[in-house]
Amino acid sequence: MPIDATQPYDSGNIFAKILRGEISAKTVYEDDYALAFHDIAPQAPHHVLVIPKGAYVSWDDLSARASDTEIAGFVRAVGHVAREAGLVGEGYRLLANVGQHGGQEVPHLHVHLFGGEPLGPMLS
Ligand code: C5P
Repeated sequence: MPIDATQPYDSGNIFAKILRGEISAKTVYEDDYALAFHDIAPQAPHHVLVIPKGAYVSWDDLSARASDTEIAGFVRAVGHVAREAGLVGEGYRLLANVGQHGGQEVPHLHVHLFGGEPLGPMLS
């Protein structure tokens, strides 16, 4: 069920629990601003989620409330994860679902990083 992206941040969400170490995840990268881990239901040969360490519901929430330092740190982390995975040469796709029409299920911002094969048209 997609979430309402205008809701206040709920610290009980599953990605907040992963950040606190209450639930395990297959982590591939972590720094002061971001955590990256394998999606539990991969939709491509390479499917990693990158989440900010700050409490932001969605891309909209991050862009409205986060400091420039947090935003820069998060964006740099996404790029770092893609480079470390060796995806830059053949390319990859970034996706951040926001709210009801975006189909966002988890109310903590996450950027999907897909790669490892030709991904086809965006909305197929
Ligand atoms: O963008 P959206 O909110 O729809 O995506 C949520 C993603 O979080 C799904 O791809 C789902 O497989 C993933 N997930 C996960 N680990 C969990 C719960 C959900 O990787 N424990």
